[in-house]
Amino acid sequence: MAISIGAIFDCCVNAGAQPQLRHLRAAFLSADVNYRQKASELQFYLMPQHSLSEIDVANATGLYRNRLSKVGSACRRFYDAIMTDNQLKQCKYCGHREARTLDHYLPQAFYPDLSINPSNLVPACTECNGAKGDYVPECAEDQLMHPGFENWEARWLYATVEMQAGIPELSFSVQPPRSWDSALIARSRKSFEVLRLGNAYALQALVDFYEVRGYLEDIYASKGSTGVREYAKGISESAARIGENSWKRAAYEAYEECDEFCNGGFVELAAQC
Ligand SMILES: [Zn+2]
Repeated sequence: MAISIGAIFDCCVNAGAQPQLRHLRAAFLSADVNYRQKASELQFYLMPQHSLSEIDVANATGLYRNRLSKVGSACRRFYDAIMTDNQLKQCKYCGHREARTLDHYLPQAFYPDLSINPSNLVPACTECNGAKGDYVPECAEDQLMHPGFENWEARWLYATVEMQAGIPELSFSVQPPRSWDSALIARSRKSFEVLRLGNAYALQALVDFYEVRGYLEDIYASKGSTGVREYAKGISESAARIGENSWKRAAYEAYEECDEFCNGGFVELAAQC
């Protein structure tokens, strides 16, 4: 869905009946042109920080806080449209938690002229939004993935598993495809680090394990290690159809390749309980 910065700005300003803010329109539109030009070359780090006065900074961020994102505001429809342009309602950064807010890819603390810019707003979960904070890339290699302008579809997320007293401990890591250049490799690692994706996926995998443990025990009891391995393979392949870099795809692939897991290593936990 294409939403113009002009339409959002006019709605936000008119809704507040604040003609004293109209002079910001030129600054917002100019920033929009510059932003989309930088985006076309994936050079967000070259976007100049604002030159607005202190009062204009307060007004610019107020347009987001008090107009665009405010429930009940006439402009909230634009916020909702950006949020719902997302079939699975998932966070566009981590790809598995629910998107509950709009993240400013370039933070409004340093780019208030992008505070209500739809190209700069990314549906995100609260955890990714919080982890990212006011992150500003300083070079090409520092830039996090921008879900609105790129999609790292090639496989880069992998996992290994170690059994600890019957509990699988997963370690997720970035293994970029050989076709990627050095900047993209650095960016994937930076995104993984800044958004704390390894911790998020490991926690989710642990929750998932406790949910399926009983079923895994039943499979092992009836079909042995072959049954467990086939189950893990099936889940991994199914998850891969939704996303090459699904945490579940990587986790179950690691289970499939782990002899200790497939040989019923997880049953020890049940025996101890
Ligand atoms: Zn997220």
